[in-house]
Amino acid sequence: MTTLQVDELKQRIARFPRKDLIYLPTPFRKLENLSRDLGPPEIYIKRDDLTGLAFGGNKSRKLEFIIADALNKGADVIITWASLQSNWCMQTAAAARRFGLKPILVLFKTSDLPLEYDGNLLLDHILGADIRIREAEKGKVVSEEYAREILKEVVNEVKEWGHTPYVVAVGGSMPGYSMEKPLGAISYVAAFAEILEQAAAEDIDITHVIHATGSGATQAGLTVGAKALKENVKVIGISVSDEKEAFAQTVSIISGETEKALGLNLGIKREDLIVLDEYIREGYGVVNREVAEAIRLLFIREGIVLDPVYTGKAMAALVDLAKKGFFKKDDKIVFFHTGGTPALFSYRQKLVELLK
Ligand SMILES: *Cc1c(COP(=O)(O)O)cnc(C)c1O
Repeated sequence: MTTLQVDELKQRIARFPRKDLIYLPTPFRKLENLSRDLGPPEIYIKRDDLTGLAFGGNKSRKLEFIIADALNKGADVIITWASLQSNWCMQTAAAARRFGLKPILVLFKTSDLPLEYDGNLLLDHILGADIRIREAEKGKVVSEEYAREILKEVVNEVKEWGHTPYVVAVGGSMPGYSMEKPLGAISYVAAFAEILEQAAAEDIDITHVIHATGSGATQAGLTVGAKALKENVKVIGISVSDEKEAFAQTVSIISGETEKALGLNLGIKREDLIVLDEYIREGYGVVNREVAEAIRLLFIREGIVLDPVYTGKAMAALVDLAKKGFFKKDDKIVFFHTGGTPALFSYRQKLVELLK
């Protein structure tokens, strides 16, 4: 299939209902100091931490479509799950409240962070979300099988109240439950078109997009966008949780569904899905010195704050890859800031220890 025009792809995306929730386009800028420190290549940033819903982040882009779907289905309650300091859950609660839906969050204790009202959990509480906290294995994302039983109970409870629940999988990524289409990934196909237009306006020929990858929709959407619009752009997902083959499998399912939903036939193959898993290091949500130093580096050099679970790891990866000579001199790299900054504060003790 030949490369689609941006407008044609945008029209296909526009067939999916969307609620106005965030400020678009998010800023796209060159990181002058970081490019000097690590480059060449030149390094740019896409600021999806500045979407404007709560503290921003990639989940709010997805929720524009997901909330619209929930409202169209007559739901008045949104149910989702993830870990205790989940950005996804907080953003879902904020988006749900904004449109009059009641959020129920099942939060799993996947790290040994103390159970304090801090970071996202504080924001969930301020939003008045119905919070259900459950035990889970540490250093891993909670498995779907494990979550499923608990969800079933919550769904039954909501139905007994006489309400209509909309259940959406962690991260708004995998289609299933109430969300039939990969709406999260579709919003990231749009995000790729957005970067491409911003880059074109400044005559920047981007070669790589690098971002933290978790439940898979961001990478699936960006990869579909790249394959459809500018095939030579490599999308590199830095896994924060899963080993790369398992993760590529997830992204492959979501990107296949995304192609189908948009009427595309791009033939995305395993080799189009670039996942690096060596930066998971000690596990999901575990901060080490590399991550702490990457957070410090971007804050000092560019005044931009990263988070410890996702973007800090992705930045640590970018620093390492640049130092190893992974990129070519005239490459143009876009670091995708996917948000997550409220979680920074719940890691205060660890960060202070590591940055002594
Ligand atoms: C959820 C999240 C990601 C990963 O996005 P997925 O679409 O779930 O892969 C990256 N960064 C932050 C800050 C997140 O909250």
